[in-house]
Amino acid sequence: LAERDIDAMLLTPGSDLFYLTGYHALPAERLTCLVLRKDDEPRLIVPALERDVAEDSIPSDLGIELDDLGETGDATALMLSLIGPAARVAIDNQMWAERVLWLQNAVGVSACHLASELLSPMRQIKDAYEQGELRAAGAAIDRVHEQVPRQLVGGRTEAEVASSIATAIVDAGHATCDFVIVGAGENGAKNHHQPGSRVLREGDAVVVDIGGTLPTGYASDCTRTYVLGQPGSELLEMYAVLEHAQATARAAARVGVACEAVDAAARDVISAAGFGEYFNHRLGHGIGLDTHEPPYLVEGNRTELASGMAFSIEPGIYLPGRAGARIEDIMIVGEDSSESVNNVTRSLVSVDC
Ligand code: ZN
Ligand code: ZN
Repeated sequence: LAERDIDAMLLTPGSDLFYLTGYHALPAERLTCLVLRKDDEPRLIVPALERDVAEDSIPSDLGIELDDLGETGDATALMLSLIGPAARVAIDNQMWAERVLWLQNAVGVSACHLASELLSPMRQIKDAYEQGELRAAGAAIDRVHEQVPRQLVGGRTEAEVASSIATAIVDAGHATCDFVIVGAGENGAKNHHQPGSRVLREGDAVVVDIGGTLPTGYASDCTRTYVLGQPGSELLEMYAVLEHAQATARAAARVGVACEAVDAAARDVISAAGFGEYFNHRLGHGIGLDTHEPPYLVEGNRTELASGMAFSIEPGIYLPGRAGARIEDIMIVGEDSSESVNNVTRSLVSVDC
């Protein structure tokens, strides 16, 4: 804050607040706001009703003082007393618009920065604890993928398969299932397909992209592609290209390499094989407390990979109206090499129909 001449950083419920305090606050209409001040101790404005939960969640050695806000309390006066008028503040990227406008109009903050300017560089580098949690999340979602083949039964709908997988995600140790994409046949060519009434049939390639959040807050995200019965020659050809592209990108993900160069490593392989126009999204995204967070592996991002960064490598090839395939692993960059936290087979898994 001092370096950037910002008086205070204001964090409302979300992953930044959790990152700094361990408090999973409820995003609701009552004001919860961590106030980090340049020249003073940190304070947390908390609804009086939720004081107990906040106290239980936040380690006392962080030295955060709690300011209760009663049901008829004056949030404006309290905020003014903490940051003063005309403060230069950094605000939570995901703060509700009504609070941002309140800060500007009622509290009178004069300049707003995004908290991510300060926090994102910290959150992008995972420490040993966070790396351990991402490995645990990877192992948990791997266990779910190991069970996916037995869910892929001809005649079941995508939605039925997705429902079974959602249960398996929680059973594998996640606190929540965050998403289940099951795209059969032509639906596999839609990147973020919502599982529906499409019935699985022999010959379908099925893209299964799944993730959840561990009780500690860290997320998993892993895609594998399956086929009911024997794959056709078109699918075999594109899958071989995809496997090569994904392995090439994993090998390219080293300290000092630009994010866009890792994207290019996969894209070049796919383009050289003639499928370039069918890989229509960035290569990957950072992951941690949020499933999608910086760094993004995309053309134009010259950020250099650093030890401790974690992100997905997920190239895909999508033939509109026909079929799609994607392979996704979460990688952690180490000093000398990078590791995948997902280790379930990356091969096209053929399921008896
Ligand atoms: Zn995914
Ligand atoms: Zn992903």
